[in-house]
Order: sequence, then C-alpha cells, then structure tokens
Amino acid sequence: MNEKDTIVAISTPQGSGAMAIVRLSGSQALAITSKLTKKSDFLPRYATLSSVFDETDTLIDEAIVIYFKAPHSYTREEVCEIQCHGGLISAQMILQACLKAGARLANAGEFSKRAFLNGRLDFSQVSALAKLIEAKSQNAAKILVRQLKGELGDFVEQTRHALLRLLAHSEVMIDYSEEDIPINITESILSELEATKERLRRVYEFSNMRQGTIEGYRLSIIGKPNVGKSSVLNAILLNDRAIISPIAGTTRDTIEENITIDGNTIRLIDTAGIRGTQDPIESLGIEKSIQSAKQSDLILAVFDVSRTLDEDDKEILNLLNSFPDKHCLIAYNKNDLPVALDINAIEKCLKVPCQSVFINAKDSKECAITLKEIFSAVLKHDEVGEEILLTSAFQIQAVQKALDSITEAIKVFGNLELELFSYNITDALRAISSITHPYDISEMFDTMFGEFCLGK
Ligand code: GDP
Repeated sequence: MNEKDTIVAISTPQGSGAMAIVRLSGSQALAITSKLTKKSDFLPRYATLSSVFDETDTLIDEAIVIYFKAPHSYTREEVCEIQCHGGLISAQMILQACLKAGARLANAGEFSKRAFLNGRLDFSQVSALAKLIEAKSQNAAKILVRQLKGELGDFVEQTRHALLRLLAHSEVMIDYSEEDIPINITESILSELEATKERLRRVYEFSNMRQGTIEGYRLSIIGKPNVGKSSVLNAILLNDRAIISPIAGTTRDTIEENITIDGNTIRLIDTAGIRGTQDPIESLGIEKSIQSAKQSDLILAVFDVSRTLDEDDKEILNLLNSFPDKHCLIAYNKNDLPVALDINAIEKCLKVPCQSVFINAKDSKECAITLKEIFSAVLKHDEVGEEILLTSAFQIQAVQKALDSITEAIKVFGNLELELFSYNITDALRAISSITHPYDISEMFDTMFGEFCLGK
C-alpha cells in the first residue's frame, strides 16, 4: 500500500437512493476523472454536469463532478467527487472504471487517515468524525460537530502552550540560572500551573459525568426481588419483554433494551433482584446487577410499597448512597395496593439527591408516561451548553494522566526539584498532546528560545 496512490471509494451507503458519490483522492484524481468524462476543464469547487464513460467508451451515467484542488480538499490532496445516480449499479460501474483507469480501492478510513497525515485533521477531529457517523443522540451530534470544527483541539492547544511555557521557564532556571530570569518567576510558575490544573480538572469531571450524552445513557433498574422491576421495564417498552412472576428470583440475568427519548438513546437494563442469598447462581446475578448499576448513568431503584422495609431494601439504599454522581430515581411501585412501606425511613436513609415517584407498573400506559417524563427532564438537565466535553474514554484517560503528572509537578516544584518538575511537565505534555497530535521536544526548544533573550 502506498500513500501516494490515488484512492477511490463509494462514499455513500449501498442501496436505492437518488444519488451516490464516488470519491477519488490523490495526484491522479483529476486525470482519472478527465479520462472517464472526456473533459479537462474542471474548475475547482464548481459543479460540472458530465457524461461518464467506461474503458470501452460506453456511456455509463450522467453525473455531477466537483473538483477540489489540493490543498483545499478534505485530504489536502487532489480530490474529485463524482455524484452519480443512486442504486447499486451506477456507482459500482464508475468505481470499476476508476480502478481500470489507475486508481486503487481505498481502505476503510483511508480518506480520513490521509486528512490526518496531511495535517488537515488532528486526532480529536478524526475521533469526532468516526463518532458523529454513529451518533446516538442529537445532543451528541452537536457536541461532536463542535469537536470536529476544532473546539477540543483549541483547548488542547491552549493547555499545551501553557505547559510548554512552564517547561521552558523551568529549563532556563536549570541551565541558565545566571541569566536574566524575571523575578517572582517561581510564584508565577506555580500559579499558572494551578490554573492549568483547574481548567483540566473541570473538563475532566464534567466529561466523566456526561459520558452518557456521547455513548448513549445506561439506565439500570434495581431493587430486591419481586418489587416489580421487570414489570416496570415492560411498561416502559409497552410489551412483555421480561418474564414477570410472583416467584422471587425469576430474573437471574440482566435484560437490556434500547429506547429513544427526545432523540437520545437510553439503554434500559433490568437487573436480577438484589438480596442476601446463599444460592451461588443467584449471587452471580446479584454481582452482575451491582456492576451494571456502577456502569450506568441513571439508576431507577424500585421499592414495593405494599411490603414493610427490610434488610434487602436497606442494601438497595446503601447502593444508591454510593452513587453521588449519578442520576438516582426511586419508583415506589404497587401504588394500587395498601401502603405498608415506611417512606419516611427511606428518605431519612438517603444521602444522595434522589427524585421519587409513585407508580403502578400494572397500569403500564400510565407508568410509562410518568417515567418517560422524568427521564426526559433528566436528559434536558444534562444538555451540554458551551462547556468542553471529552468524547471518548481515551481522551478522558489522557486528561487524567496529565492531571496526575501536573499534581506531581506541583509537589516537586515546592522543593525546587527542577529536573523532576520538567520530567513531570513533559509527561503531562505527552498525555495531553495524545488527544490531538504527538508531542515533539523541538516545540519546547522553540518556546524556550522564543521567549528568552539568553545572549548565548
Ligand atoms: P421483579 O422480580 O422485581 O422483576 O418483579 P416482577 O416484575 O416480576 O413482579 C413481581 C410480581 O409483582 C408480579 O406478580 C407482578 O404482576 C406484580 N406487580 C408488579 N408491579 C405491580 C403493581 O404495580 N401492582 C401490583 N398489584 N402488582 C404488581
């Protein structure tokens, strides 16, 4: 495989539709398009109606051709887009004609890879593009488009710039301590570093809390056996997906289904009832329920109002209390039966903010309306404004690494251990740079010599 090859692919999905697009990228893109259309006068960024011929000069389609002259194209190479008729045949025939005229079939993601290698997109933009195509909600799409436009890249650049300046200062203090170093430099280094750490911390914490926006929300329905968890799931889905039974312990494994609310995908997970048990198989199911809750953004804890509060209910409350950063909801189910549950005692045990609602899962329509309204309000509350949001586990991990290194740098700077300080700042730089493009030590020298008149 050669990066210099001219590559071609059908860029639109296969199937019937009004149009399809065959895209060529590389030095021969224009020559190949000219050969197929018998035209050579394509103006960059103009749509030109063209007949398209195969290698035997047979007319295969009428198409619109758009030529993007390098470097003003997606890949920064010569690019031609042939917008032909949709369906399965035309685009395939044009693709074959391009291959016969010297193009090579593009590998998966190769156009974007070239865009990255040619400096048109950074890692964060490539990642945003891949996620945008699979976006799980309108909210996610809006955030990913912002990332694609370079918003996260700008944030990373600002952070890198701040860290590079600090590194350059530190290097100067190590190597050129006799030189003209501004006074109060130690205080300014420390305060700039603290400010950088604070900016990163805010983005990190916010992103950790809002991953559901990008990845799709996970909602675990938890509770002791027989409170009506499966009935609640079925009510929300308005079908009989889960088996409902008065026999406790019927749901031994998790059941998962997707619903869409206000354009957001929510993955509903009906978990096995949590209770004290000696049964090894049931214990496995319970462990899975707890893990599922831990990995969820929303928790719906179901209690049965017709039964008195017991140790198993208290276990559920303890679990809720361990989730201060999640959206926790309590559904008091079986509201059609006389109330025996001590609601006040439950509210007293709660240490996390928790919205509660009375439902009757047997009246599935009413129950679904009530719960969906609450989910919708939670999603509205979660709408992301102008804040920067990291959109992948990789980006979150990178910021976490940078934060750890900065914390260490602040510690060693207190003892004026400058070499260790530089080492930790370089680590932070590497971590944060991995979000967009790898860190190169020459950037530090550029900053260092650019900022100080050392007279050497
Ligand atoms: P799970 O073990 O928590 O999943 O509970 P199920 O959904 O299997 O329900 C246990 C039993 O409670 C079944 O017999 C249901 O029909 C019944 N049940 C569920 N919700 C309600 C409700 O709101 N009212 C009444 N009266 N019974 C309910």
